[in-house]
Amino acid sequence: MSSYTVLNPATEQPVTTVPGTSAEETDAAIERARSAQRSWRAVAPGDRARLLRAFAAAVDAAGEELAQLEVANSGHPVSAARWEAGQLRDVIAYYAAAPERLTGKQIPVAGGLDVTFNEPLGVVGLIVPWNFPMPILSWGLAPALAAGNAVIAKPAELTPLTAIRVGQLALEAGLPEGVFQVLPGKGSVVGQRLVDHPGVRKIVFTGSTQVGKQVMTGCAQQVKRLTLELGGKSANIVFADSDLERAAATAPYAVFDNAGQDCCARSRILVEKSAFERFMELLEPAVKGVRVGDPASPDTEMGPLISAGHRAHVASYVPEGSPVAFAGHQQAGPGYWYPPTVLAPVSFTDRAYREEIFGPVVTVTPFSDEAQAVELANDTPYGLSGSIWTRDLGRAIRVSRGVEAGNLSVNSHSSVRYWTPFGGFKQSGLGRELGPDALDAFTEVKNVFMASD
Ligand code: NAP
Ligand code: MG
Repeated sequence: MSSYTVLNPATEQPVTTVPGTSAEETDAAIERARSAQRSWRAVAPGDRARLLRAFAAAVDAAGEELAQLEVANSGHPVSAARWEAGQLRDVIAYYAAAPERLTGKQIPVAGGLDVTFNEPLGVVGLIVPWNFPMPILSWGLAPALAAGNAVIAKPAELTPLTAIRVGQLALEAGLPEGVFQVLPGKGSVVGQRLVDHPGVRKIVFTGSTQVGKQVMTGCAQQVKRLTLELGGKSANIVFADSDLERAAATAPYAVFDNAGQDCCARSRILVEKSAFERFMELLEPAVKGVRVGDPASPDTEMGPLISAGHRAHVASYVPEGSPVAFAGHQQAGPGYWYPPTVLAPVSFTDRAYREEIFGPVVTVTPFSDEAQAVELANDTPYGLSGSIWTRDLGRAIRVSRGVEAGNLSVNSHSSVRYWTPFGGFKQSGLGRELGPDALDAFTEVKNVFMASD
């Protein structure tokens, strides 16, 4: 087993060394998972629920340790990292109620009794990106385990530390060996093997649209079940009748949270022409007020980007001569820092306007009326999230029905609430995670007819 060094993106210093799992080791883990799953699915629903509650309690007890690991490994501000550890705990606790409620149907038919069962799929492979290691792990892990599947998680190469610790916590909480395994390593090795191995029955992939398409092609060979959570280029639509002060004060956080490394980032602000100038006046102090700096400080709102390579990629969207309207704080010293940056005016053909940047760069564009706002919002291959700011209820309804995206918010920027379904339209993904129906994605419906005579 080869190993590699994980860096702290705020300091560029090594954090620790992590083993990189090989293809052979991945195959062995899949065999262990297959055998563990046969026992796990037979664990009585009440006992499975009790073990998941114990797992949530173990995550809760380790919350601060997990948050500090994420600060060191991902450079997330500590306040955000604490929320992420809390989300992991809450998602496990929410789906801990599911094993005891996984009811099928009794369907009236002639000549007997007809019932449906929600059977587990078997071994589920979770391929996780580096931007939100704990929340995204939890969204697949908790419902998959609740439904009686075994899980193998492949964290992103850059950010494996919290996932590795969560794997240990599962064992400490009493989950049987092999039911949940974490395999750090390369996507091209471990991730690819999970996709190609016939012993894995489902892949949950969160990451770039480009790699997601390869994963989909791989899964097609075995008609393997697949959930995809991919990229985004979401719009924040601000109408002139809205509370402009609030819209402008909150807009930076809707795109610069997690340094813009958020699939739901509202990275295209669209503002009604008559309010454009006023909005820009209000936006400037809000952007300059974003507290960028040491992730360990409780006041910090934005940390560094994840890696030197990613910073170079983000910077490529703001070449010399770019129309930078204004920018926020540029942190000096080591670390992969990039300041909050506002581009305006930009043309509709500009790369910065069209492509997912996944960094703290936002464009602001005027629109003339409601119809054009919807047209611009939909003029993208993506469809993940978006916000609509207006005081006109009818308009809020019309625009939220018109925008082709999976997660919209009116007069707010919320998007991921674990009680509600989450996922993308168009090239932002396939399927839905979270919410009351998440177990559908981790079960097969089996229909059984029993003759009465
Ligand atoms: P990525 O490069 O696509 O990687 C995602 C995961 O896939 C990583 O674990 C990666 O491993 C693995 N991988 C790479 N090649 C693979 C292969 N051939 N087979 C199987 N797995 C492979 O994405 P990223 O750069 O980490 O994350 C950023 C992207 O994620 C953005 O586009 C963002 O929008 C998207 N995202 C979407 C959502 C959503 O819910 N819709 C949420 C968060 C992020 P390595 O680490 O070894 O490369
Ligand atoms: Mg990548």
